[in-house]
Parts: sequence; structure tokens; C-alpha cells
Amino acid sequence: RRTVLLSGSHGQGLTKDGRHIALLANIGSAADATKAAALDLEGSGLFRTEFMFLDRQDAPSVEEQTDTYTRVIESFGNRRVVVRTLDAGADKPLAFTQMPEEENPALGIRGLRLGMRKQELLDTQLEALSRAYRATHGDLWVMAPMVADVDEAHYFAQKVRALGLPKVGVMIEVPAAALRASRVLREVDFASIGTNDLAQYTMAADRLNGELAGLLSPWQPAVLEMISFACKGGATTHSHIGVCGEAGGDPLLALVLVGLGVTSLSMAPKKVAAVRASLAMHDCSRCQEMAQAALDSSTAAQARDAVISMADPAV
Ligand code: PEP
Ligand code: MG
Repeated sequence: RRTVLLSGSHGQGLTKDGRHIALLANIGSAADATKAAALDLEGSGLFRTEFMFLDRQDAPSVEEQTDTYTRVIESFGNRRVVVRTLDAGADKPLAFTQMPEEENPALGIRGLRLGMRKQELLDTQLEALSRAYRATHGDLWVMAPMVADVDEAHYFAQKVRALGLPKVGVMIEVPAAALRASRVLREVDFASIGTNDLAQYTMAADRLNGELAGLLSPWQPAVLEMISFACKGGATTHSHIGVCGEAGGDPLLALVLVGLGVTSLSMAPKKVAAVRASLAMHDCSRCQEMAQAALDSSTAAQARDAVISMADPAV
């Protein structure tokens, strides 16, 4: 049931019954953008801009950033490009600005929290994004990482809108934002769920500690419940809710996410084909049944087994 690929167009992700779920790439550089844009996918759902800031002595200038954002947007033509503003913190320190050491970097001044305290960094990045937008008029969406409450979402949204950027959003990766998604979403145009951090914060398990992988599984019913909260919030405000954490690239879990109400999935580019095939084999109503079965499970293993037993064996 894939749409025919016209030259220069890109096949939509579709469930068997034709519900559109945008399939997007996670990227980290302009070179990644060039490679991903050559694939059959609908754009980038997460451009992690950290790479431009880490491991260097001076902050990237507005000109340098404008050039990079322009190249990324141009690579995707009229396809969507979701740019995430700088997600640095004591775990990913910046050499060119004073950042106090923290005992718990994951719970400290990271993501938008840093941007609110180092406003010149955030302002320069947003100015570069607005110049890149004016130069390209691409389908540019701008979002902030690590947003926890309505005040933060409001702060970011008014800054982005003041620059005339067309779409502003937040990542939902803090449980507080998931639980209060409808209020957070009143401030912005869209949200994207970061399942890596959402699992870390829901399960109180350090995502860098390999020993805790079981707790960090996105199949944990508590994590799925958190995603469900976010999606219900999105449904109340009729907002677009994507997923850009690793969970979206699992062809089985992707069905559950769609069943929970997610409208786009962004992942490592090489995973798109398998997720596309999995969606094409299942109706939306089946995805909803799978999501319910996962939520009704007691453990991550049971949730996965329940979904495997309901999915097309070809997945
Ligand atoms: C996430 O937390 O799921 C996410 C996409 O962001 P990052 O992995 O860059 O923290
Ligand atoms: Mg994150």
C-alpha cells in the first residue's frame, strides 16, 4: 500500500488502512543530512545540533551555524526538518563557556535549562535558524530539549515566534511534561517524545549505565503509560506528537507507538525501511489493540510477548 514514488517525491509511511505516519531520520550533521536525504523517507525528525558545539574552543558563529542549517534544509528540499536546539550539560560540557561541575548532570542544567541561563548561546542559534529559514523557506520545525513545564515551553515559544520561525515545539522527555502534555502543548505547535531520556527519568535509571538496560527498556509498561499520557495530551490540543528516541526504530514497538497515538517516527535512517514495512502490514485499530495489550501487561517482557503474538509474523 505504499504510495508510488514520483521522481523527487518520497513515499509516506502508511498503516495498512492508510493512516499517515511520517517516517523521518535522526541526524547529527550536514553530512548525515546528505546521506539521509538520498533515502526514501519524509525528512528529519531530529537534528541533534550538539556536534557543532562540543569539542571546540570557541562557540560557532551565527554565520557558521546559518551555513550548516541552510545546507541541512536544502538537502531535504521541501521535506520536513526538525532542528533541536543545543542539548549540552555537565555530561556534554562546552569548553567555551563557564559550566559548573554537577554531581547529577542528568538532573542538572542541561538542554533548555542551559539555554535559559546562557541566553546568548540560544539567541545566536535561533538567529542562525531564522536566517537559514529566510534563505530557504524550507519546512523547518524548531524544538527545545529537556522541557519540564509550561513556563519553559512558553519561554522558548515566544523567542522562536518573535523571529518569525514557522513551527515551534518541545521535546517530551521529562515525566512532568508527559503528565501535563496538554498544558505544555497549548504553548507550542508540536511535541516530540524522546524515549531515551523519558525512560531514564521514568525509571530513575541512568541511561549510560549498561547494567540497567532492563529497566531502561522502552517496553516497560510505565514508560508506555508515560507516552500514552503525552499522546492523550496531544489529542486534546490536536497537536502533532512524534517520537524521536530509539524506540521509534523498532518495527514492533513502532506499532505500539502508533496505537498510542503518535503521528511521526524519527529514527536512525537505516531503520526506516523495516518500520515502513511493519506499518504497511497492520491496521490502525490493530495497533491500538497492541498498545492496549502492552499497557495491560505487568512487565516489559510480557508487553513485548503480547505484541509479538498479535503482530503479523513477518515483522
Ligand atoms: C531522547 O532522549 O530520546 C532523545 C531523542 O534525545 P537524546 O538521545 O539526544 O538525549
Ligand atoms: Mg534526550
